[in-house]
Amino acid sequence: MRRGILSGTVAFLLASALAGCQATGTDPITLPSMPTPVAPESVTQGIGSAGIGDPYFPTYGNGGFDVQTYDLAIKLTADGSIEGVATLTAKATAALQQFNLDLRGLKVAGVQVGADPATFSRDGDELVIRPKVALTSGSAFTTIIRYAGKPSEISSLTLGQTGFRRINGVEYMAGEPESASTWFPVNDHPSDKAKYTMSFTVPEGEEVISNGVLAGKQSAGGWTTWKWQVGSPMASYLSTFAVGDLRTVESTHNGKPVRIAIAKTITGSQVEAAVAKTPEICDYFEQYFGAYPFEAYGAIVVDDPELGFSLETQTRPIYPASMVDNGDRGGVVAHELAHQWFGDSVSVKQWADIWLNEGFATYAQWMWQEHAGGPTVSGQFESQYRNEFSPIWRTPPAAPGASKVFSSSVYQRGGMALHALRLKVGDEKFFSILRTWAAEKRDGNGTTSEFQAVAERISGQSLQALFQDWLYDTDRPAHP
Ligand SMILES: [Zn+2]
Repeated sequence: MRRGILSGTVAFLLASALAGCQATGTDPITLPSMPTPVAPESVTQGIGSAGIGDPYFPTYGNGGFDVQTYDLAIKLTADGSIEGVATLTAKATAALQQFNLDLRGLKVAGVQVGADPATFSRDGDELVIRPKVALTSGSAFTTIIRYAGKPSEISSLTLGQTGFRRINGVEYMAGEPESASTWFPVNDHPSDKAKYTMSFTVPEGEEVISNGVLAGKQSAGGWTTWKWQVGSPMASYLSTFAVGDLRTVESTHNGKPVRIAIAKTITGSQVEAAVAKTPEICDYFEQYFGAYPFEAYGAIVVDDPELGFSLETQTRPIYPASMVDNGDRGGVVAHELAHQWFGDSVSVKQWADIWLNEGFATYAQWMWQEHAGGPTVSGQFESQYRNEFSPIWRTPPAAPGASKVFSSSVYQRGGMALHALRLKVGDEKFFSILRTWAAEKRDGNGTTSEFQAVAERISGQSLQALFQDWLYDTDRPAHP
């Protein structure tokens, strides 16, 4: 995710209250802190917990099971409502009489677990499900949820308005760390990645774009169903769709489909030219990070002046037009594409480790900008380092606090930490560390200490002091 310069109300709210605006060098004000983190027992006496145990976001995700696949069949009506059937296959990690899914708003019509109807209730953003027959630990089970309603926007702790948005003829979904629960029942945490099949039924003539590969398209009775398939495990916040007045540009690259959708209200050729660099940028990163990890390439560009960020939605990042047409030599596009390796293929286990996404994507963005004739990586490092009073020195990137997961320290000092590592171990070992990390954790999750272990193994030296100085301390490290 990459924040941009905003206009309008959201911009005002963000700039004045929330944004770690890099342009002014201020960090977000500290919001009321989350409850003291106590990792919940994931299952107590057969009752799955309402959170997966993330200290920063205690109610995100759920305890007691692991989802393997989501099969979502969603009909989008003209008034912005959805009718959905979600079929989840999962494995119980404990004996379960009851378990939860995350779902915001949306009315549930019925739940089935296995062959039997299940009882259910709502508790805030939790859907509480009681199967007719209790699940045994280790058993595989299927849950079907029928639901309907209008997906909501989220007033995000960190990003302003996110979630479901309708603007300039396009409806789309984007948000981090949450958003998926606004449109389907989900174990909403990146530590439970799953494969997805998503079918969207829309009025004939409207375009649909989502993650992965288009696996079918059928029309009947004035409606068209678009089926999208995601073959690699995906974190829930990386799922997305956009529907409506979109023009789509298709091609292939390295034998994989490239699909770029741009809101029709965006005119001129600049935006299209910027996202058309997607394959070239991915090829550049392959030299340093290893093979592109997914089955497709693409982009979604929306005409939404109030969207204050771009997001690395898997295989198909979402950008507001203003962020790809801003003269930064493709920096934002490079940032979201680097996330396909760092964030999407290798995901965080806990949100506290978000620098593993954002610091890496920022560093990769600096690399691309240098390659494209912009400032050098070391120039970017030095200009940040020079600012002795920057707020990045007070916020540790690997323990920023829940309200600062998207603050400038996570991005800039996170990227600088990688540069300090590069200076310490040398180019050859540095890029070997990045490639090894991407390969060993591919389609999985990682933590900062696991990354440190990989870096120490490849470099053959202790990096404890460097990681402490750059990622955990609350002052400016010595110049490397
Ligand atoms: Zn990012």
